[in-house]
Amino acid sequence: MMSKQIVVVGGGAAGMMAAICAAEQGASVTLLEPNERLGKKLNITGKGRCNVTNNADLETLLANTPKNGKFLYSVFSRFDGRDTMAFFEELGVPLKTERGNRVFPVSDRAFDISGALERRLKALRVTLVRDRAVHLEIEEGTVCGVLGERREYPAQAVILATGGVSYPATGSTGEGHRMAAEAGHTVTPLRGSLVPLREQGNLCARMQGLSLRNVSLTVFENDKKIYTDFGEMLFTHFGVSGPLVLSASAHMRRFEKKKYRLEIDLKPALDEQQLDKRLLSDFTKYANSDFCNALGDLLPQKLIPVVVGLTEIPPHQKVHDLTKEQRRELLRLLKHFPIAIAGPCPVTDAIITSGGVKVGEINPATMESKLVKGLYFSGEVIDVDAYTGGFNLQIAWATGRAAGLAAAENET
Ligand SMILES: Cc1cc2nc3c(=O)[nH]c(=O)nc-3n(C[C@H](O)[C@H](O)[C@H](O)COP(=O)(O)OP(=O)(O)OC[C@H]3O[C@@H](n4cnc5c(N)ncnc54)[C@H](O)[C@@H]3O)c2cc1C
Repeated sequence: MMSKQIVVVGGGAAGMMAAICAAEQGASVTLLEPNERLGKKLNITGKGRCNVTNNADLETLLANTPKNGKFLYSVFSRFDGRDTMAFFEELGVPLKTERGNRVFPVSDRAFDISGALERRLKALRVTLVRDRAVHLEIEEGTVCGVLGERREYPAQAVILATGGVSYPATGSTGEGHRMAAEAGHTVTPLRGSLVPLREQGNLCARMQGLSLRNVSLTVFENDKKIYTDFGEMLFTHFGVSGPLVLSASAHMRRFEKKKYRLEIDLKPALDEQQLDKRLLSDFTKYANSDFCNALGDLLPQKLIPVVVGLTEIPPHQKVHDLTKEQRRELLRLLKHFPIAIAGPCPVTDAIITSGGVKVGEINPATMESKLVKGLYFSGEVIDVDAYTGGFNLQIAWATGRAAGLAAAENET
C-alpha cells in the first residue's frame, strides 16, 4: 500500500513535531521551510536556553493558557508537559526543571532541542525542502496539495504550522494566516502578547537603559488590581520591558476598551514601617544635604531625578527641613511608583502572537479544519496563546503531535 502523502508547511516547533509524529505512523512526509535552518525561532527561545515546556499537568497547562485554553483540553490531556519531557529525553536530550517548573535542556542550549528534532526527522526520512508555500490547493472542499515558490507538492493532507507574526525575521510573517483565510478560515485580529509596553508621557525615556531587579509590579485595569508579580524589569526609550513586564502584558488583554497603569514597588522587601525607618536613618546620615542628593544609598542614580521630580519636595530643600508629611509622600512614591501605559508595542516585537485561525473552525481532537478536509493546523498560527513558563512551546508540541497523528491516520 502506498503511504499517505503529507506536506507540513513550516519547520518551527509545531511543524517539526507534526512531521515526526506523522512519519512515525508510516506517512510519507515533506516538510517545507524557507529558512536555511529549521527552528530558527526555537533556537532563540528562553534567551537561547529554550524553556521547552512546563513540568505541569493538564490543569496547570489550562490555567496558564488564557486564550482559548478549553480548545486545548483534548490535546493537553493526551500530551502534557511531562509527556513533552519524556519525548525529548527519549530523543537523547537530558532536561532539568527550574523555578516555576520551567523545563530546560541540561546543556542550556536551545540548539540541542532543534538538533534532536532534526536528527529524528532525518532518521524517519522526512523530506526536508527549502521552499516557501504560497497557496493551498483545494478541490471540492478537500486539500490536495501545496503550491510552493519552487514547485507544487501534491498531498493528501497538509499541516499548516507557519507560526504567528511576531519576530518576523525568524520566518513567521503571517503567510499561513493569509493561506488559511483564502481557504475560507476566519483569522481573529492579531496582536502581541508577552510584549513590551509603551508609556504615556516620557518618564521611562528619562531612565532608558536602567534595569531594576527585585521589584514588584502591579497592573491596574481601570483602577482594578489584576496582576502582581516580582522580578526584573527594564526602562526603555518607549516605556518598559524585561521579564516582569512581558509576563504582566499577557494579562492586559483589552487595550481597546480599558485603561492600564502600572505601579512599581521599588522596595518590596521592606514594608512601609521598615522603609520609613530606613528613610529616617538615611536622612540622619544626609541631614545637611539637599534632598536631591540624599537618595544615593536607596535608589539607582538614573531613578533619583525622576523620583525627586514626582514628589512636591523642592530638590534643594535641606534634608533636616523635611517634614514628616514630605517623608510620607516619598515613601508612598517608592512603594507605588506610577507608570501610565499607552499601549503594547507592535506585535512584531512581541514574544507571542495573540489571535490567529479561529478555534471554532478547527476540530479540537485532531486539529483538522472543519471547513477543508485534510487541512490541519498546529502551533501559534491558531488563535491560542499562553503565559511565560514553557507553555507556548507546549502548545506547539501538543497541537503538532495531534495534527501529525491525525493527518497520518485519517482515511482519504
Ligand atoms: C524571543 C522569543 C523567546 C521565546 N521563548 C520561549 C520559551 O522559552 N518558551 C516557550 O514556550 N515559548 C517561547 N517563545 C514562543 C515560541 O517560540 C513560539 O510559541 C513557538 O516557536 C511557536 O511555534 P510554531 O512552530 O507555531 O511557530 P514558529 O516557531 O514561528 O515556526 C513557524 C515556521 O514556519 C515557517 N513558515 C512561515 N511561513 C511559511 C511558508 N509560507 N512556507 C513555509 N514555511 C513557512 C517559518 O519560517 C518558521 O520557521 C519565544 C518566542 C520568542 C520570539
